Order: sequence, then structure tokens, then C-alpha cells
Amino acid sequence: MAAKSKSHKYVYFFGDGKADGNESMKNLLGGKGANLAEMAGNQKLKLPVPPGFTLTTEVCTTFLEKKKTYPRQVKSQVEASLLKMERIMGRKFGDEKNPLLVSVRSGARKSMPGMMETVLNVGLNEKTISGLIAQSGDERFAYDAYRRLIMMYADVVMEKAAGVEVKNGKGIRKLLDEKLELIKQKQGYTSDTDLSAEELKMLVKDFKVTVRKVLGSDFPEDPMEQLWGGIGAVFSSWNGKRAFEYRMIEKIPHEWGTAVNVQAMVFGNMGNDSCTGVAFTRNPGTGENKFYGEYLVNAQGEDVVAGIRTPAPVNEYSKNPQSEHFTTLEKYMPNQYKELYGYQKRLEQHYKDMQDIEFTIEKGKLFILQCRVGKRNGIAAVRMATEMFTQKLIDAKTAVTRVAPNQLVELLLPMLDPKAEQTAVVIAKGLPAGPGGAKGRVVFTSDEAVEWATNGEKVILVREETSPEDVDGMHKAQAILTTKGGMTSHAALVARGWGKCCIVGCSDVEIHSETKTFKGKNGVLIKEGDWISLDGTKGLAYEGSLPVVDIDIDQNKSYRDLMKMVDKIKQIGVRTNAETPVDAMHGLKFGAEGIGLFRTEHMFYGEGSEQPLFLLRKMIVSKTEVERRTALNELFQFVKKDVKDTLHVMRGLPVTIRLLDPPLHEFVPHDSAKLLELSKVLGIRMSVLKRRVLALHENNPMLGHRGVRLGISFPEITEMQIRAILEATAELIQSGEKAFPEIMVPVTCTVKELEHQKKIVDRVYREACVSMNMKKIPYSYGTMIEIPRAALKANRMAEVADFFSFGTNDLTQMSFGFSRDDIGGFLPNYMDQRILNEDPFQTIDQDGVGELIKIGVERGRKTKKNLKVGICGEHGGDAESVKFCHRIGMNYVSCSPFRVPIARLAAAQAAVTWPRKAK
Ligand code: ADP
Ligand code: MG
Ligand code: MG
Repeated sequence: MAAKSKSHKYVYFFGDGKADGNESMKNLLGGKGANLAEMAGNQKLKLPVPPGFTLTTEVCTTFLEKKKTYPRQVKSQVEASLLKMERIMGRKFGDEKNPLLVSVRSGARKSMPGMMETVLNVGLNEKTISGLIAQSGDERFAYDAYRRLIMMYADVVMEKAAGVEVKNGKGIRKLLDEKLELIKQKQGYTSDTDLSAEELKMLVKDFKVTVRKVLGSDFPEDPMEQLWGGIGAVFSSWNGKRAFEYRMIEKIPHEWGTAVNVQAMVFGNMGNDSCTGVAFTRNPGTGENKFYGEYLVNAQGEDVVAGIRTPAPVNEYSKNPQSEHFTTLEKYMPNQYKELYGYQKRLEQHYKDMQDIEFTIEKGKLFILQCRVGKRNGIAAVRMATEMFTQKLIDAKTAVTRVAPNQLVELLLPMLDPKAEQTAVVIAKGLPAGPGGAKGRVVFTSDEAVEWATNGEKVILVREETSPEDVDGMHKAQAILTTKGGMTSHAALVARGWGKCCIVGCSDVEIHSETKTFKGKNGVLIKEGDWISLDGTKGLAYEGSLPVVDIDIDQNKSYRDLMKMVDKIKQIGVRTNAETPVDAMHGLKFGAEGIGLFRTEHMFYGEGSEQPLFLLRKMIVSKTEVERRTALNELFQFVKKDVKDTLHVMRGLPVTIRLLDPPLHEFVPHDSAKLLELSKVLGIRMSVLKRRVLALHENNPMLGHRGVRLGISFPEITEMQIRAILEATAELIQSGEKAFPEIMVPVTCTVKELEHQKKIVDRVYREACVSMNMKKIPYSYGTMIEIPRAALKANRMAEVADFFSFGTNDLTQMSFGFSRDDIGGFLPNYMDQRILNEDPFQTIDQDGVGELIKIGVERGRKTKKNLKVGICGEHGGDAESVKFCHRIGMNYVSCSPFRVPIARLAAAQAAVTWPRKAK
């Protein structure tokens, strides 16, 4: 064992056409490190990647666990790799004459853009600067690199990683930045590039003094100290606040850790024959198969992403209203553009997915600094998946895994009412970074966005630019608007990842943070709290609250193509929960293959419920069976019509109709006017009525007189519903239509309940056949499984039931003993303390509740081999839960109409990952 640890590899080298690692080693090398290795080392790619090395995520986890110390061999392995870099570059780290400078970059398994730290230009000091001047022949450039190093190093290493408390909310980076701005203001400069060598030299002096004053120690002169300081700081940034928050939102495990990449610097800021940029192999906003990107002349690294200067387009296609007057890279450096164009083609062919590429041109020589699978919004994801399939770049199975089920929400996303848009006042025009329509009240800081949203307000976050510190507020906001930045800026990137409506680069908007206002186009003044509306698809913002309308999904060809593949691949059915013909039609439009839950009580709520509700109340307060039957007879017509209308829409697809479920007292009126009316109609005194109502009171109605228990106490309630269902079915069939109801008994816990109700069904069935003059009426009989006992006794339940439908809301409630209506009081705390990782009412608790479901399915099928099993309840529309249902062999899931496409896609993805054997 000792031998093994002696030779353990902690550092992976890449460069000069070779690499120790490759693309498949993301867990160890992080995404960035693995891809750098692949680009540098794969003979098919052979891209010009500056040499460097990667410290593994293992080093990170040890470092963070062992009080910021490294495994023993790390030091020598780093030194050996540094030596190789020096040889390739022909420069020496820390050399006064010909210094090598390096970047120290983060890179986790999954990309977390901007969430962790990077330090550039490491290795510069009072001595090596003269070497850099000699190398480049450009003093201005050298001091620009130097001031950047001090700024980043002070911020990342000396302040953040050292855990220095920031005074007055102003960190060192901000303080130094202000110094830079001051010079610009004094001299009337508009851009950082206007600063002279002399001014930058002064700035460097000033920076060093300020660092010492504010942080209490000197910026380190020793290049090795700089290097290790940088490495440690990047590792530590894994536990930084914003990285932590991002992981919570994105559900990235905290245990993963980040890798660190140390890489030879190349310079995009070496004058006008140098530049830096970000590009995508396809348009990440629309999915169109066109090379898309932005660049900045004479700039370094993060200038593009930070949105400090408006970037120029790499080609005509990438032009937008803000950048149309800039020269494209294609025109400015045609040869390098051609080279870059070739590389991006090669990269997409190799990775078979859209790539996000960082490049830098140093004095006319092109380098590739990073590639990764590019983030894209839902609309683009669907288009890319289907078009890559058509191009035969990927197969259908891969295509359906390329869209996250929840991304489909964006395609179904409401938009601003186009009619209202025509007459609305445009207050800003910018770049359409995140599609869809949104409206909300203006706030200017991330903290306010969080606060307002927590109080139930819909807000739109308006900022000059966003930084990783704003993630929480961005997440909580309906939409984001920035005044600076391009399509590759931080705000755009993050919004794209989340599918959030977002407009960036609204250069005609002027924010006045002191007065919490902004001045929009044509001088319109907007105050904090004012409503505005955004069209993220067009990049337009309007004054006021415009109506938001639904979209016709069938117009989207890519969506239709994708869903065709989905339906071929998926192996379980997807139904919808619906109780009105309108809902049923929505469900059908979204591809539902039946109704998994039709709640009969629906007719007693909302519009048009007045009369049936009154009749139900009459029935509820009835004292005798005769009274009750009279009321039920009147109610019968309503139930029958309701059922018939929906069966008609579904044209023979199965419709699971659940018998009356809620506790009766839920329907009893509590205001005296309604009670008085009821007492008159029933011809009983108020005091008598009130006594009857009181008698219905329950201490724990969720576990009280509800579901099948009502049908046992009052068989005539069941009888009426069965008759309505069977007669509705018979009538449809007689008029030449198809209909197939599945009668479902709720809240059962023993087979005896099912037997009891079945007797009623059998009797009513015989009567209905006679009265309707039919030999048979199609239907099936089954039960919900929502009480743990029912799941455990599934073998018995299946003796009578032809199907099970897992009611996972109640099943979760009763398994955990958590009241669905009261979890707000403790669940957040459970999640904070990580006692639970997820809200079990949103995604099935596969461990516990899932175990019960598995038992239910297995035992049920032991009794009845072809027992049909499905799920209704909210979980049916949750992608992870759908995948679970597929794995354990359910026949179908059911969810609200809007979530049907999501469930279908999740089902197809499950079939790709866990294919079921053909029967
Ligand atoms: P992130 O993961 O946040 O994108 P990166 O590690 O990619 O951070 O680095 C930030 C910026 O610095 C990027 O624009 C990148 O291109 C640039 N950069 C990193 N390393 C080098 C290098 N060796 N030479 C030139 N620029 C670099
Ligand atoms: Mg990067
Ligand atoms: Mg229930």
C-alpha cells in the first residue's frame, strides 16, 4: 500500500501535443482540465493550447479536509510539471530576463461559470516586469498585466481566501477599481485601454500601497509564493459563499471539490494585433447552426464575460443592434478567423455537442484556452438536439437526452401579449439573452430581489451588470435586465442556464442607484417598485404590467420532431390529470394518452359549482337515507354530464374516475346566509341544521371520514356515482362513440373495503345494462394506493382491483407522518440542516416511500400478473419521479396537462438509461 501512495499521481500535465489526461477524466481533472488535456493531447484535435498542468480534485478534498495542507508528493509533481512548461515555452518562471507567467484557474466536474476564482499573470514582480517588457517590447502592456495581477491576487488570495472581513461592503477589488476609474475620469478616458504606460506604472504603485494599508500585508514578490497562494485560493473558493449557493441551486454535491489548472499565459492585451473572445459552435440563444461569438481587441481574459466593454461580433451573423457598427473578427483578422472557424467545427464534430470556446490571439497567433459543452436555453436545446439528429451527428437516443425535461417549460413559456406589446411604451432595448415574457416590479440589488420575492412579490432585477454574487437574487427574480454586457456576459450565461427571461446590454438605460430609479429610452423614469414587462425573445422592455399569454407549442417544428422521437423511445404511458373537458383537451394537445385522475368533487368548486354544490350540501346535511337519496337523485344529472363531457373528449382513451374523496364537512357552508338558505329549502330549523353541521366536525379530517369511508357509511353516494359513470359511458357508446372509464376507489386500506364497494358496482352495473338495454358496458375497477397499509397488503387488494394508482401525495404524507399542509413550519429547517435533501412532496422519496411503492407493485402483480399500475399526484410531473416509475415497472404516470411533455421526455430518457426488456 505504501508503494502505491508513493507513486500516486496528483498532477496531470498537458501541452506540446501530449497530455497525461483526457476528456473522460472529468471527475478527477474537472471539466476544464479534462478538456484542456483532450484538446492538447488528442491527435485528432491537436489544438494550440498553451501548456500547463492540472492538480486533481483529490488534492482539493484533502486540502480542504486537512486544514489547507497538501499530500506530500504534490510539491515535487508541481515543480516537475512547471519545468516541462518552461522547456516548451522557452521561458522560466520567476526569471528576470525571460519570465514565464501562468494563470491559476478553477474547474469543477460540472461547469460553474464564474462561481470560483481565477488568477492571471502569476509570476510578475518588480524584477520580472522588466523581462516582460523586454519580451513584448511593450511597457504599457506589461504594467497592464501587472496591475491586473495585483488586483486579482489581492481580491482572490489575500482577501477572499484569507477570509478577511470586508469593511463598508467595499472589497479590495472595488477599492482598486475605483482608483482606476478615478484616473479615467480625470483624463476623460472612456476605456481601460486609454491608460498610458506611465499611468499604469503609477497605478501599480498605488495598488501596492492600498493593498498593504487595507489588508495589512504586502503583495508577495516571490513568484513561487504567488503560485501556491493562487492554488490554495482557488481550492478554497470551492467553499466560497457564491459557489456554495450555486451548488445548492444546481444540486451539485459539495463533496466533489474543484481541480486547479495552472497554464502558461498568453496575452490578448499585447496591442491591436491581440484579442480575446468567447464563441459557440451554434447560437446558444436560438439553437441555429451558425458559428456565434464575441471578442475584444487588446483585452485580457475576463473582460468579455465581465461585460466591461461591449464586445465586437466575430462574424456578420453575430452582430446585434449594440455591436453592428463594430468590425468583425472575420474582417479584422481573416486568417485567424478562418483558423478559429476550423477548430470550432473540429471541436463540435469531436464532442458531438455544441461547444463554448474561449480563445485568445496574441500578436496574431491563435490559442484555445477552454472548451466545454455550451449552456443553452430550452428553445435552443430542442432545436440543436433535433438538428444534430437530422445531420446524423447523434442518434435519436442521444437526442432525447440532450434536453433537460424542465427545459421544455421554456417552450411552453408564456409570452407578452403581442397585441399589448404593439401599443406599450418601450423603455429599453437590449439583447435577447433569455426568452419568454415576464413582468414584475423593479428592484436594483440582489438582496432586495431576495427580500421582495420572499414576501411574495414578483420582481425584475435591474443592474448594470451582474456578478456571481448576484446569483441568489437572479434566481428569485422573474427576469433580469442589465445595461451592460453582451450575449456571453455573466447575466446572459446564468439566465440561459436557468431558462430565465433576460435582457442584457440595454445601453440606453441609465441607473441611478442613489435614488433607486432608472431612466429608460426617451427619458421615461422608472422607480423601485414600478411594474415593467420584458419580452426576452425580442429584447424589449416595456413600462407597466402587460398581459402575459400562452403559446401554441404545435407551431414549433423542432419540438414536434423531438416529441416524435420521445414517443418512439419511451416505454411507459403518460396521462394527464383533468376534470374538465377543457383540461382534457389541453392534456391531449400535450400528448396525454388518457386521464390518470378525474376528481369527481371538482364540480363542486369554482365556476358553475353553485347548483351542484347546493345539492351536495343538501345531501350532506340529510339525516335519513330517504332525504339523502332525494338529494343524490338531483345531483345525479350533474355528475353524469360532467363525466360524459370528459369521456367524450377522450374518445375511448382510458379515464380514471375517482369516487368522492374529500371529507364532507369541507363542503359545508359556514356563513349564516348560506346556512339560512339551506335550512329553508330543507324545511328544517337553523338550530337543527347547525347541530348537524357541528356533528360533521373532525379533529383530523385528513385522516377522517373521507374517501371510501364515505361510500361505506353511505353506499347510496357510491351508487349514484357508479350509475352516472356507467350511464354516461353507455350513452356515448350508443351514439357511436368510444368510452372507457376506470372506476377508482380512494383512501382504501383493506381489500374488504374494495369488496364492499364492488358489490355496489356489480349491482348497479346489472341495473344499468338493463335500463340502457346493453349487453355490456366497458369499465374497469381499481383503487388508489395511498395508505401504507394498502401498499403492504397489495396482494390482497389486487384480488379485487384491476388496477392500482399510487396517490403519492397522501402516501408521502402518511409514510413520513408529515402533514402536507403544515410542512412549511419545519421542512425548510430540515433541508438547511440536510436532514432531508429534498422536499418529498416534490420529488418521490425513492428510499422510503419508493420502497412502499415497489412493494405495492410487486405484491399486486404477484396476485394479478397484468395488474395495471400508475401514479397520479404531483410527482407524476417530476422528471426524477417519472424515471423512478419507469424503473419499477409502472404502466403509466399522470400529471397536470402542462407537465405532460416534461413527463414524456423524462420517460424517454429513462428508457434510454434503463431500457426495459421487450415482453
Ligand atoms: P472561468 O471558469 O470562470 O471561465 P477561467 O479559468 O476560464 O475562468 O479564466 C478566466 C479568464 O481568464 C478566461 O477568460 C480565460 O480565457 C482567461 N485565461 C485563463 N487562463 C489563461 C491563460 N493561460 N492565458 C490567457 N488567458 C487566460
Ligand atoms: Mg472560462
Ligand atoms: Mg388522496
